[in-house]
Amino acid sequence: MANILIVDDEAPIRTLLGKIVNKDGHEVMEAEDGVHACETYRDAEIDLIITDLVMPRKNGIEMIMELKKDRPGIKVIAISGGSGFSGQIDLLSVARLLGAKHIIKKPFTVDEIRAAVNDILA
Ligand SMILES: [Mg+2]
Repeated sequence: MANILIVDDEAPIRTLLGKIVNKDGHEVMEAEDGVHACETYRDAEIDLIITDLVMPRKNGIEMIMELKKDRPGIKVIAISGGSGFSGQIDLLSVARLLGAKHIIKKPFTVDEIRAAVNDILA
């Protein structure tokens, strides 16, 4: 069992992701943007972050960069949709360069999420 932080500015997606990993016995915490996620990550024992990339205040890329300064071995699964492109930059590719072990495109399937979580925690 792991403590998983789910970060997405869309509440229904947080709820869905939470249900998927909770069913496998993991504890779930939620944050609605990168600012809240960084605060939560520092205050709690988080084993894995599943994060959206396009979010207000602090996006997923900025969040990963900030958290990696203190915890280089941070475990991240990055998820993003059609808006994962910021200008000409593919944010999922950037997330991979920053160390996100799995990158998943929206709309995701339950099996994709479970497989990525099981692999990264194995
Ligand atoms: Mg978003």
